[in-house]
Amino acid sequence: MESVQKPTVIFVLGGPGSGKGTNCARIVEDFGFVHLSAGDLLREEQASGSQHGEMIKSMIKEGKIVPSEVTVTLLENAMERSATKKFLIDGFPRNEENNQSWERQVAPKVNFEFVLVLDCPEQVLEERLLKRGQDSGRADDNLESIRKRFRTFQEQTQLVLDHYGKQGKVRTIDSNREPAAVYADIQQLFGSL
Ligand code: ADP
Ligand code: C5P
Ligand code: MG
Repeated sequence: MESVQKPTVIFVLGGPGSGKGTNCARIVEDFGFVHLSAGDLLREEQASGSQHGEMIKSMIKEGKIVPSEVTVTLLENAMERSATKKFLIDGFPRNEENNQSWERQVAPKVNFEFVLVLDCPEQVLEERLLKRGQDSGRADDNLESIRKRFRTFQEQTQLVLDHYGKQGKVRTIDSNREPAAVYADIQQLFGSL
């Protein structure tokens, strides 16, 4: 019988502005992963004139988590379309609802490795995001939305990290350092995969 290898999945989490997108881009170059950012997929879905467009737009501005049926479908579609089956899933699962949908619908079909967590204090994140907001064009890179996103992270995403932490599946990197120092630690982590 033909045996087909399950796709590899690594989640990448951390507060808004912690460097998820920046480091994922480098991991893609060095280790041949495909980067799927849940936030990017939602912004594309919103911009495409989807039936969920208005809802996604307002959830993003308010720093709230879009219902999983939307996000998990976008992720599953992107995974199916990809020829390469090694995925960095950035910004997901953001809350317990995201994680339950994932565990029910997708987890049985993949090899989940670990959650890479980028750890950085809010004061530093706030500065980075305000700077990014000068030219990101993002509706949520403003002080009001940033503070709402911090709350969502503390109140919802942290519970998901605790869940994976109890299973020994969290790899935390201090991202309050020069980009090169942060990435050097990540490189070491991926080198031993
Ligand atoms: P996330 O995807 O986690 O929201 P990004 O990768 O978009 O974060 O990074 C947020 C902002 O901070 C970007 O403008 C990025 O250039 C900058 N940045 C990323 N990593 C660092 C770092 N180690 N030190 C300083 N600035 C950083
Ligand atoms: O990860 P990123 O900062 O790009 O996410 C932007 C926003 O997209 C989040 O603040 C949230 O409103 C939405 N999002 C979501 N569910 C996810 C990932 C992102 O609702 N799993
Ligand atoms: Mg990002």
